Amino acid sequence: MFALMEAARVEALHCFNDSATGLRAVIVIHNSRLGPALGGCRYLSYPDEKSAIEDAVRLAQGMSYKAALAGLAQGGGKAVILRPPGVDNRAELFEAFGRAIDSLGGQYITAVDSGTLSADMDCVAQYTSHVTSTTSAGDPSPHTAMGVFAGIRATAQARLGSDDLEGLRVAIQGLGNVGFALAEQLHAAGAELLVSDLDPGRVQLAVEQLGARPVANEALLCTPCDILAPCGLGGVLNSASVAKLRCSAVAGAANNQLLNPGAADELEARGILYAPDYVINCGGLIYVALKHRGEELPAITAHLTQIDRRLTEIYGHAQADKRSPARVADALAERILYGVK
Ligand code: NAD
Repeated sequence: MFALMEAARVEALHCFNDSATGLRAVIVIHNSRLGPALGGCRYLSYPDEKSAIEDAVRLAQGMSYKAALAGLAQGGGKAVILRPPGVDNRAELFEAFGRAIDSLGGQYITAVDSGTLSADMDCVAQYTSHVTSTTSAGDPSPHTAMGVFAGIRATAQARLGSDDLEGLRVAIQGLGNVGFALAEQLHAAGAELLVSDLDPGRVQLAVEQLGARPVANEALLCTPCDILAPCGLGGVLNSASVAKLRCSAVAGAANNQLLNPGAADELEARGILYAPDYVINCGGLIYVALKHRGEELPAITAHLTQIDRRLTEIYGHAQADKRSPARVADALAERILYGVK
């Protein structure tokens, strides 16, 4: 346990067990140098406790890096609730989770993540104020999409010499909450859309409403385009897929797009510019963090403009140092978090 914490530089790991409801939850506070730890709560079935803890540690670390580069006075954390089989007391489980969070006195603020809904956060909110993305707080996805759109402009400027998206071919993998909102903005800016989704209904909607061209799921990554925007699941960039890409840049919303750090170097070697995922997709985090602090929409929208500025800064360093933007982003985040060069 301590070896895992030390390897990821985790500050604290809290385990909660509530016999009355069956709640078994892990809350990881990765780094609180910049402020209280903020990060979503997963509610999933895990094969064992070790994999649940490892998942929470990895995700909490990612949140610290994301918050640091988003310019937020916020640390990184994450929670995992081990989903018991055959749950029929979901509300009580999340209420117990709310009490667990409250016992930490504001060191950790929770939000929705895989397997959790705003309705679950409403249950949490009955017992603690350290919760975001409740029904009343609103969906962060449109803000994530706004940030990715701005990031695509910055990426086009850096790689293609212009941020004018008119006629630019953007291939979007995944037309969910973020991907579809992004497609709408790209369409409005005159981009040509190539799209895929596991759900044919989403593709049909993009074809009808945005004039998008459908591409088979298995062909999307290797379809010729200017910018590839992964907006589905993570792990899409690996040795095999990078070798087949036919784009100038990769800039999308999906978390953990790189299967391993080496994939970033392979992109760099192929001359494909990569927008580090946690930099370009931090619009949702900015929204929930500032909303939680009581900020109004204009302030939140103003903060979103930092995303393309930060990306442009990262691209500048990457070009000067002949390194992948992913490695530059990690180094910048670590300098903010740990004060190291
Ligand atoms: P979502 O579940 O609403 O949408 C994902 C979509 O991708 C679904 O329609 C799904 O069918 C599709 N998809 C999954 N795998 C696919 C594949 N291999 N090929 C084609 N389509 C595929 O999720 P979302 O909220 O839109 O988030 C999308 C990604 O962005 C996720 O990786 C998420 O972690 C990340 N992200 C989301 C937010 C946010 O605010 N929602 C913030 C930061 C990062």
